[in-house]
Amino acid sequence: MKFDDSYGEYRKSGIFFVITGPSGVGKTTLMNRALERDERLAYSVSHTTRSKRAGEVDGEDYHFVDRNEFEEMVEREGFLEWAEFCGDYYGTSREEIKSIKREESDPFLDIDVQGAKQLRSDPSLDAVFVFLAPPSLEELERRIMDRGAETEDTIEKRIRIARNELSRIPEFDYLVVNKEIKEAVSDLEAIIRAERLKV
Ligand code: 5GP
Repeated sequence: MKFDDSYGEYRKSGIFFVITGPSGVGKTTLMNRALERDERLAYSVSHTTRSKRAGEVDGEDYHFVDRNEFEEMVEREGFLEWAEFCGDYYGTSREEIKSIKREESDPFLDIDVQGAKQLRSDPSLDAVFVFLAPPSLEELERRIMDRGAETEDTIEKRIRIARNELSRIPEFDYLVVNKEIKEAVSDLEAIIRAERLKV
């Protein structure tokens, strides 16, 4: 047990903190800041079939696999949830979550709205769903372009998907607006802190 008080039996561990939000909204930055400051959070490394971006590391940012490998894992029921996003597969493997739980850490997931919905439908899961939104769609478009990782075609596609994702906010427990990253981190930490204190 990681709890050093005498009320350990009332304290929860292994809460899933699920972060969803449009591509380019700043999920990675937000989550990295939270991870640096909270040793109980453990980032869940997803599998994906999309190609590696500059600076990404296999096994750290994602487990990069080809479509065949991914589909085999789907068939073996190796994923807790998975989805197709922008023409590529993304999924959270059961193995990844098992290893996080073995360490009694809280799985910290960056997944899309379809994945969040799948986890939401599993009542046995102790999970908290946070939607990270941009201050506006115009600002989001600017951020995606600044990242420079996408072609014009995928930028457009990602903006279209974002519009749809924003309409799904009511399916989430919390809404954090990423206007100032510092404030967004502090909002997220408040959520995590309160959820851990729940009896
Ligand atoms: P990106 O290509 O920008 O890294 O991610 C694209 C989208 O896929 C993001 O919205 C991200 O949250 C989502 N995503 C990343 N990993 C997973 C996953 O394991 N499952 C699902 N459902 N979505 C994921």
